[in-house]
Amino acid sequence: MKILAGVFEQVKLRNPNEPEYLQAVEEVLESLEIVAEKYPHFVKAGIFERIVEPERQIIFRVPWVDDNGNVQVNRGFRVQYNSAIGPYKGGIRFHPSVNLSVIKFLGFEQIFKNSLTGLPMGGGKGGSDFDPKGKSDNEVMRFCQSFMNELYKYVGADVDVPAGDIGVGGREVGYMFGQYKRLTDLYHGVFTGKGLDFGGSLARTQATGYGLVYFVNEMLADVNETLEGKTVLVSGSGNVAIYACEKAQSFGAKVVAMSDSNGYVYDEEGIDLALVKQIKEVERGRIKEYAVRKPSAVYTEGCKGIWTIKTDIALPCATQNEIDEESAKALVAGGCRLVAEGANMPSTPGAIAVYQANGLLYAPGKASNAGGVATSGLEMSQNSIRMSWSFEEVDEKLQGIMKSIYKNASDAAKEFGKDGDLVFGANVAGFLKVAKAMYAQGVV
Ligand code: NDP
Repeated sequence: MKILAGVFEQVKLRNPNEPEYLQAVEEVLESLEIVAEKYPHFVKAGIFERIVEPERQIIFRVPWVDDNGNVQVNRGFRVQYNSAIGPYKGGIRFHPSVNLSVIKFLGFEQIFKNSLTGLPMGGGKGGSDFDPKGKSDNEVMRFCQSFMNELYKYVGADVDVPAGDIGVGGREVGYMFGQYKRLTDLYHGVFTGKGLDFGGSLARTQATGYGLVYFVNEMLADVNETLEGKTVLVSGSGNVAIYACEKAQSFGAKVVAMSDSNGYVYDEEGIDLALVKQIKEVERGRIKEYAVRKPSAVYTEGCKGIWTIKTDIALPCATQNEIDEESAKALVAGGCRLVAEGANMPSTPGAIAVYQANGLLYAPGKASNAGGVATSGLEMSQNSIRMSWSFEEVDEKLQGIMKSIYKNASDAAKEFGKDGDLVFGANVAGFLKVAKAMYAQGVV
């Protein structure tokens, strides 16, 4: 970096001890150096200094009472990052690892992802270090209500529209939406990922995983290949992983492994997704149960080993930095030729360098997992016009959006002489729309 080196230095000074956030910013600024050279008016207008600084960061106490009558205190976050092209939009994550750095990296990535969808959505993200695992439904409800008692002041259908993420699915969104309605008397689309009976969109649950696989289809089509007969690894066994697996299987791929934060299962016969859904969605159990019930499967404790399995394609769908340099080398050694990210920032910079050095086809999450937020955008549209579209209509729109994200990212890479570099292409294509809007709106 030359022109933007000073911007990154300032970010480091202002945000010490925020490694995930600095990792995300550095990657984007590296891509944007060439844009800064080409568009000096963006430099003069301070676009780069402004885009790395959140418009607003809210941190709050979330007190609640557990089933034993003990008071618990968690920390809540909402980072409203950028509203140049629309209301803030981005999920809520409940996981013990949540802190300001994690929420800021996710919010920062969200700006570019939302821009890539072509829909009018700004970037934001929120969450808490609350762990829903092992909590009763009543405890989760009390927590969600307490979380909303503070957050409701800052969100709204035209202001900031949260959704789910790790640890936040239909149940949690329902509780938060209910409390928002109670506090405000407003019945509007303040959340996406809602239940189908109260304004949710068909195909939203499937959208991130399905969208990821539609994106993979585009990548493969460019090299005259398809998913038919390919071996695939999917990490995670949550919302994104399950529907990535389902769609990949529908195109004839063989998914041989899935995981959770404790370990992974390898099933040489191919994953029985109905069994995974029963264990994870219905019973809220652990993935190791799969190997107990399916004789062809083997369970291994620990997550990293999943990347040592021989495969054609890897779809990391669990969490940030789950593939490091060593795991990326293991993937290459096992024959992997394509990595597409369902999770946000699952590959470390070292891993990405390994993909690039070995000529893998590689899709960064901000492009390949944008189907979730895109369909959230479609849910917002349906809420605004008080209509709901069929599953097929939403799915068709999702496919169109994933195609155009792929095209925009690969065209941007070509335009700047970086053919095939989707990291660069996604960063630049996502940035340009937001930067033009910020420029037009003056120094705000
Ligand atoms: P879920 O909570 O439904 O599932 C998360 C999965 O990842 C679980 O299997 C979980 O295992 C595993 N996991 C979580 N943390 C870790 C960890 N530290 N180490 C190993 N495994 C872990 O979340 P989603 O499927 O919604 O989200 C997965 C990823 O996709 C996240 O990066 C999220 O930001 C991203 N994403 C999600 C979108 C959505 O629409 N939901 C949209 C775009 C991106 P366990 O059960 O043991 O915790």
